[in-house]
Amino acid sequence: MVIEIATLFPEMCEAVLSESILGRARAKGAITVNCHQIRDYTTDRHNRVDDSPFGGGMGMVMQAQPVFDCWKAVREQSELPMHTIYLSPKGKTLTQNRVRELAELPRLFLLCGHYEGVDQRVLDRICDEEISIGDYVVTGGELPALILTDAVARMCENVLPSPDAYEEESHFSGLLEYPQYTRPENWEGETVPAVLLSGHHRKIAEWRQEQSLALTRERRPDLYAKWSKQQE
Ligand code: SAM
Repeated sequence: MVIEIATLFPEMCEAVLSESILGRARAKGAITVNCHQIRDYTTDRHNRVDDSPFGGGMGMVMQAQPVFDCWKAVREQSELPMHTIYLSPKGKTLTQNRVRELAELPRLFLLCGHYEGVDQRVLDRICDEEISIGDYVVTGGELPALILTDAVARMCENVLPSPDAYEEESHFSGLLEYPQYTRPENWEGETVPAVLLSGHHRKIAEWRQEQSLALTRERRPDLYAKWSKQQE
């Protein structure tokens, strides 16, 4: 999996991408993530990449030219087909299912907007889809792109120790995960459910499944209804 992130703030992305599981996955070549500075592609002699919106209104809009030239240059750096995503609050909300599908693609190009967004004409020209991380607005596309990158990366081979590491987690099967506990067995008078100390694998699996169902039914009736329908 190759992920190309086009941004006005590559250092912000690198800071996250070089740490922890993502940092290790990149170091051992399990995933490749490249950050591209959109400003490097502007033809404006003052290095500008944005301008005020036609029709008036607050803020600035990222211009089509530097975004398009960045996208084109990156696309030509490799023969791998590139699926282009604009991170946007107007996009389809990201789900675990979509993450799983995206992880099957060879190469993603993630466009991070800033200010009031990006000139619609370049979005129409280059984007395959728009993805939102939720029904709220953040200041730029960098955090959304990093969330998508993280979620996709952990589905890729050799990033996590084994598929078990994500298959039991919330949302993978459509349910929320059961509660987790670790040492000590007694913390300030609060003990761990006895079944987890029993060493009885079948009973532990049954308890976890019951907990998972109960939690999903209580907290996310929408997910529970969808999951129940799939079991029919
Ligand atoms: N004016 C835009 C609107 O109302 O739809 C919001 C622009 S926002 C301040 C700046 C950039 O942050 C966007 O271009 C987008 O790349 C990113 N962004 C903000 N909220 C997002 C969300 N919920 N999901 C994905 N990207 C988001």
